Amino acid sequence: MLIENNSNNLGEELGTLFVVATPIGNLDDISKRALSVLAEVDIIAAEDTRHTHKLLSHFGISAKTTALHDHNEKQRAQQIVDWLNSGKNVALVSDAGTPLISDPGYAVVNLCREQGAKVTPVPGACAAIAALSCSGLATDKFQFIGFSPAKSKARKEFLIDAVNSGVTSIFYESTHRIMASLDDMREALGDDQQVVLAKELTKSFETFFSGSVVELIAFLTEDTVRQKGEIVLMLPGKVANKEAISPDAVRLIQLLQDQMPLKKACGVAADYLGLKKNALYKAMLEQD
Ligand code: SAM
Repeated sequence: MLIENNSNNLGEELGTLFVVATPIGNLDDISKRALSVLAEVDIIAAEDTRHTHKLLSHFGISAKTTALHDHNEKQRAQQIVDWLNSGKNVALVSDAGTPLISDPGYAVVNLCREQGAKVTPVPGACAAIAALSCSGLATDKFQFIGFSPAKSKARKEFLIDAVNSGVTSIFYESTHRIMASLDDMREALGDDQQVVLAKELTKSFETFFSGSVVELIAFLTEDTVRQKGEIVLMLPGKVANKEAISPDAVRLIQLLQDQMPLKKACGVAADYLGLKKNALYKAMLEQD
């Protein structure tokens, strides 16, 4: 029994909340530990119980489930903590991937932490991390920024903030909005903005596309079937590498450097250009 190998094991007076990742497409990506935990807990709190029952029956697991979704999780959270306090073990799952990552579960885990209940992860698939790991973009520093906003103005600001962060940005995009979102990206960040699309990860039609936003729009317009499916988009940070500093920015810093030290010049240029001072300084040091 895998749960017994865990420090938070069955048989203790208090129960444990297991936050269990499930596959994002390929069912073989479920872990042995996830299967043991799902088979052994007293109850599974699931985003969509019908969806989870399909997964469980695929693996021959019959388990008691309860619904935990965005609309009831605040009320359900206390009930789950009460179950844990009465010695029951509970698993938390979402429809796919890691719970809480653009999925329900935050209210429950937060309350468990506040009230001292045990919470332990059963890690596995997460679309954001799977996409990043194969994107070819910088992975030393990155940010996950959820779904892009639905409204164009907010979305443009979201995209500008993403590249100005200076680190790789990963976000989820809905298939219905992908073309509108890419049009906004072109308008807000320019035709040459580099972008990586990761689609249908771990499924039959898994696709990665890297190129400029204009090239991506052309690729998706050429065959509209390519617009369908589950999508992750990734943007490189503006000054993540030296090519990303515009020649104008370099020239400005060089002019300022006649009057002040490089670090100060980067600070002034960063204020003027709306960039991060440290990222600009680092990028200038990396210039040949
Ligand atoms: N909790 C999940 C995770 O760990 O990745 C994410 C849930 S969120 C509601 C669903 C979004 O994740 C989709 O709209 C899509 O943007 C992304 N996603 C989920 N599965 C994916 C897949 N197989 N390929 C690409 N993106 C995926």
